[in-house]
Amino acid sequence: RDYGDISLKDIDQVAKSSFPLCMRHLFDKLKEDHHLKHGGRMQLGLFLKGVGLNLDDALAFWRAEFSKKVGLEKFEKQYAYTIRHNYGKEGKRTDYTPYSCTKIISSTPGTGDHHGCPYRHFSEENLRAALGTMGVNSRAMEDVIDKVRNRHYQLACTLTFEALHGMPCDAGINHPNQYFSDSKKILQS
Ligand code: SF4
Repeated sequence: RDYGDISLKDIDQVAKSSFPLCMRHLFDKLKEDHHLKHGGRMQLGLFLKGVGLNLDDALAFWRAEFSKKVGLEKFEKQYAYTIRHNYGKEGKRTDYTPYSCTKIISSTPGTGDHHGCPYRHFSEENLRAALGTMGVNSRAMEDVIDKVRNRHYQLACTLTFEALHGMPCDAGINHPNQYFSDSKKILQS
């Protein structure tokens, strides 16, 4: 897999610099609530697998947060299985692939869910606040919001990428893991 590699010790910094907003939001919510519902665990968990977080690190990552909320025992009983499952270590041993933008945009998050695409699923007010936190300047913000109003969510994400990296992204964003690898390429060069 050529998505690059991340380890647990870098993950906070890398989340800030190179995660697209959909994953940044899940990551922040997990740290805040020490919990994510199923849809969020799948979306973020498979993304993290795609960026090269290995199974042991993934278990340590989820355990550290969930155990603060549900306790260690419940984590091992109820949640560790799904993580191993996502890595193809349980059940049918399918190697599950990370979700594309199209799949995430067409998902239907309910109350208390944090998965989905913020460009599609956030209110304009919440989206503006989230973009501001990411460091998108006010001029770029208006261009992003304009794309969102025209329902061009991936173009909105592409403009965000370009504003944050100061570089064009000619191919456009079509996958959260592509956002990540393109970001790493720019930041490492
Ligand atoms: Fe994530 Fe894709 Fe939405 Fe960007 S366009 S926030 S990468 S789902």
